[in-house]
Amino acid sequence: MHMKYDMAVVGAGPAGTSAAISAASRGLRVLLLDRVRFPRFRPGECLHPGIEPIFRELRVWHAVSEASAVRPAQRRVCWGGTSRLESFGRDVEGEWRAVHIARTVLDAILLQRARDMGVEYRQAHEPLQLLQKSGGDVDGVVIGGAPVQCRYLIDASGSRSWLNRQLGVAPQVCSPKLTAFCGYREGRLEDAQQFHAGVDGWCWFAQVDAHTINWTLVKHGVHTKPCVPAELSGMPAAGPNVCGFDVTWRRAGTLAGHGYFVTGDAAFVLDPSAGNGVLYAVLSGIFAGECVVAVTEGREDHASVQAHYDEWSNQWFDGARKALAGIHGQQWNRTGAA
Ligand SMILES: Cc1cc2nc3c(=O)[nH]c(=O)nc-3n(C[C@H](O)[C@H](O)[C@H](O)COP(=O)(O)OP(=O)(O)OC[C@H]3O[C@@H](n4cnc5c(N)ncnc54)[C@H](O)[C@@H]3O)c2cc1C
Repeated sequence: MHMKYDMAVVGAGPAGTSAAISAASRGLRVLLLDRVRFPRFRPGECLHPGIEPIFRELRVWHAVSEASAVRPAQRRVCWGGTSRLESFGRDVEGEWRAVHIARTVLDAILLQRARDMGVEYRQAHEPLQLLQKSGGDVDGVVIGGAPVQCRYLIDASGSRSWLNRQLGVAPQVCSPKLTAFCGYREGRLEDAQQFHAGVDGWCWFAQVDAHTINWTLVKHGVHTKPCVPAELSGMPAAGPNVCGFDVTWRRAGTLAGHGYFVTGDAAFVLDPSAGNGVLYAVLSGIFAGECVVAVTEGREDHASVQAHYDEWSNQWFDGARKALAGIHGQQWNRTGAA
């Protein structure tokens, strides 16, 4: 059967655009969909230093590095009454540096790169629905009542995990409840990244550009009342208002199957103290795109790429979860929540 698209991607954040770029750069016909008009707000301005070689590979590094005014090589960690500077690491080429960049700018760079690679981008004004074959396999997506078949569908819809919801598959919840708030203030920090562990969660401050500080607060339990960290409360507000997010750790019930891959936050949510949500989104998007290319070119069969993708994704999640348990474990043990 002739299909107009080899791959359709739901969600044009870092996971979706990376999947689209990776597949389109190998000649696949890609449709990229998002329900909102860009620029749209998402948190996640501090990128792990490991993003640099990956962005070079996607050929967006030049634009990203030009737009990043703050590149710290270390962060201050205040924990258990001590305060110390931690380096991100170094190699023969020098110190590893984080990349601080406004998400609207980063997402615009990635989207532009996808379009330059020939990806067709559409804003879906009506809710998308899943198109399934009679046996239940994923067959594409219904946009405004019109079915669009594709060989593969990539779910990059973020933490609401659109495809798993459409399939009726529940997530696996992996931590007690966690709530994150974030916001912006005008001002300057002495250290461009600061991590403060507290009694009922932790707090993160980051200098996004010369005048703007991002703060993120993660609290144990469910909270609805926004709370600005006391250290910044005297500074004028800047940018979007305080937002609350459910950052309880969770794993999508299915990560890959016949005709689909689930990437980025749609696959896993960990709280932002992991510090690598965007890195994982980009890597998982690229991996999913490469899986689709390998099957389309006949180099590998679906079962083997699905097994690789499942294994790699689960290893990532389990590794990050273990690392984070060290940050939250003491409080959870104390409250008996774990
Ligand atoms: C408070 C907070 C602070 C954070 N700080 C950091 C940080 O400093 N560094 C870091 O690396 N990570 C951070 N993260 C994590 C980071 O925000 C995410 O991991 C990252 O945005 C995931 O990218 P994504 O592409 O998977 O999803 P998203 O960036 O959420 O993009 C998903 C896209 O899908 C679209 N979409 C959703 N549903 C549909 C639908 N039904 N149809 C069509 N389109 C749809 C949305 O409009 C959106 O554009 C933070 C998270 C939180 C909550």
